[in-house]
Amino acid sequence: LKEKNARSLWHPMAHPADSLANPPTIVTGASGVTITDVDGHTVVDGVGGLWNVNLGFSCQPIKDAITAQLDQLPYYSIFRGTSNDAVIELAEELRTFFEPDGLTRAFYTSGGSDSVETALRLARQYHKVRGEPARTKYLSLKKGYHGTHFGGASVNGNANFRTAYEPLLAGCFHIPAPYTYRNPFNETDPAKLAQLCLAALEDEIAFQGAGTIAAFIMEPILGAGGVIPPHESFMPGVREICSKNGILLIADEVITAFGRTGSWTGSRHWGVQPDLMCTAKAITNGYFPFGAMMISEEVAQVFESDETGRAAIGHGYTYSGHPVGAAAALACLAETQRLNVPENAAARGKELYEGLLALQAKHEAVGDVRGGHGLMCAMELVSDRATKKPIDKASTAIVQETAYQAGAMVRISGPNIILSPPLVLTSDDVQTILSALDAGLSALN
Ligand code: PMP
Repeated sequence: LKEKNARSLWHPMAHPADSLANPPTIVTGASGVTITDVDGHTVVDGVGGLWNVNLGFSCQPIKDAITAQLDQLPYYSIFRGTSNDAVIELAEELRTFFEPDGLTRAFYTSGGSDSVETALRLARQYHKVRGEPARTKYLSLKKGYHGTHFGGASVNGNANFRTAYEPLLAGCFHIPAPYTYRNPFNETDPAKLAQLCLAALEDEIAFQGAGTIAAFIMEPILGAGGVIPPHESFMPGVREICSKNGILLIADEVITAFGRTGSWTGSRHWGVQPDLMCTAKAITNGYFPFGAMMISEEVAQVFESDETGRAAIGHGYTYSGHPVGAAAALACLAETQRLNVPENAAARGKELYEGLLALQAKHEAVGDVRGGHGLMCAMELVSDRATKKPIDKASTAIVQETAYQAGAMVRISGPNIILSPPLVLTSDDVQTILSALDAGLSALN
């Protein structure tokens, strides 16, 4: 398998030769919160698939819903005058689920990048339909991640994901993220840093001209950029600034929706109602590629009350509303609520975060620990705590490999070890992840 992999498969985000030099772990099975590899080694999945397998790998109700839907209606598009019960029932359920977030309509997609693209497009059209044709720019956070379509890549805050594809979408500007460990202000106090970042946002809006900006997009807790939870004043501050300037607020909740933060959504965690919300990943627990871009009643009304609004949309995918994905999502939502997963995410997340802080006290290589909001945590590794010099790639690989041998799959992203396990894991599973990391970090000495 490893030879065939190297010969025929090009992995995402990887150099084609990487899998020759470092053959991947071939995963042959998964059950509960564990995965098993081709050599028969079983470990706790500290990555949760890819932030998406919130309910673990053995979710029978989702499996049953998928097979029943395959028997009833395996596929039909909802373009041009057709619909079906699976997509309708899911939309109704999402409307109830997202009611506290002020979101009432669902636009279906096949993943996170599609949800982001949909939100960016809709934001521009919203302003056009309202007769504000000049609003075409977007603002976002440095270190934010918004997928890999050209729109999402343009608002991505990490230049590594942008430069290779330039020129990207014109008119995208990036604001400093509330990242206490490293920031241009050298500010370590989270509340003061939030104010500085909000001031930077206001400055950028003034510089660009408020009437030129369509939307601000942000993750309520930044994920792929290294798990960066902002101070509680930050997202409410962004909401206020956007409202004051007529700018739509897009919450990219591809990671944070459906319980990961310990709340049902990341926006709710901070008490904010966005205008648009991108979801995907955990909406089907990873069982089917699917997403929903949620729309507020106010935004929906603008499009629905006007003929030009209807004509302006011109956007959709073959798999906008795959009935099998919708059936999977419906079962996943029911199971997520039945198990009240945010409660477990908050409790286990606290244990994980405290355990990581203990590892920081023990291991010199741990420069920063971030978490404390459900089951999204990260450790930033450094070769020198005083200068915060990031650790080299070979060392992070040692930590990852040793942790794997000691019982846990963890994810490396640059100098960060990112943890996003299934939300249904137990305290014992948390301890397994922590002791595996302890072994991994000890291997650096
Ligand atoms: N937005 C965020 C916040 C993400 O974390 C991701 C994926 N990690 C995406 C968008 C893109 O999602 P996908 O990979 O499903 O296209």
